[in-house]
Amino acid sequence: MDLGLTGSRIMVTAGASGIGLKITERLLAEGASVFICDINEDALDEAQEKNPSLETGICDVADRESVTHTFDEAMSSLGGLDCLVNNAGIAGPTGAFHEIDPEDWDRCIQVCLTGQFNCARLAVEHLKQSNNASIINLSSAAGRFGFPNRAPYSAAKWGVIGFTKTLSMELGDFGIRCNAILPGPVDGPRIQAVIKEKANAAGQTSETFTKTWLSMASIKELVDPRQLADLIAFIASPLGRTISGQALNVDGDLQGLM
Ligand code: NAD
Repeated sequence: MDLGLTGSRIMVTAGASGIGLKITERLLAEGASVFICDINEDALDEAQEKNPSLETGICDVADRESVTHTFDEAMSSLGGLDCLVNNAGIAGPTGAFHEIDPEDWDRCIQVCLTGQFNCARLAVEHLKQSNNASIINLSSAAGRFGFPNRAPYSAAKWGVIGFTKTLSMELGDFGIRCNAILPGPVDGPRIQAVIKEKANAAGQTSETFTKTWLSMASIKELVDPRQLADLIAFIASPLGRTISGQALNVDGDLQGLM
């Protein structure tokens, strides 16, 4: 199926590795022009080497000056913007909420939630010029359920849903759509680290913990990041033109987190 994304101008935050890179490579394969930013310079270089048409910039989404600078770079390289994928997010601290370091709380909210605001606010004027404009925000299953010992992450990801729904209402008149994606546990190094920490805290092996965790889903498997990339490519494309204000789970029908 031709999604009609050829020539679309797309910016993906934290696109140098993990889910962001999978999204980026899918969009490139559809013929889109993609600019990625990331805090990790080595990872950016590696991604660019692998995908020579990719444009890149170093950026911490939590730092407004850094975001402003990166947006200037991205807009001069892409020549406009059709879609912003707010993918950047960090796991944040693991521990009882009253025992975590308040600075770790602040950082998690700043990256996972405020980072999306920092980028979206600069994207709007450019998106208004597009005839297929959208913003796609990465939330999480933790934005639908409580997530014991991950309070800042869960709070930020619930915040992303409220942000997304509100942007959809505010920006609809300008033809800009806004949606959130809520992945369940995605296969890859990051989730393995989270599982290890949680398993240790519960005195279990990672294998046992993973099995118990997945028993809370109808489809008992970790999410393949390429599924997220497929869904995002569809939503960003003209085929998704009436999809807005949605919080879409890709999680095997997960019923809770622990
Ligand atoms: P990841 O930890 O693998 O990191 C991906 C990239 O983010 C890295 O290249 C890193 O350098 C970059 N990054 C980190 N902090 C940054 C910052 N402040 N500014 C810019 N770049 C930064 O993440 P991932 O697992 O690919 O997750 C991507 C998104 O999906 C996040 O928003 C995450 O919360 C969400 N998510 C992930 C999972 C999962 O299981 N991996 C599940 C649900 C939701």
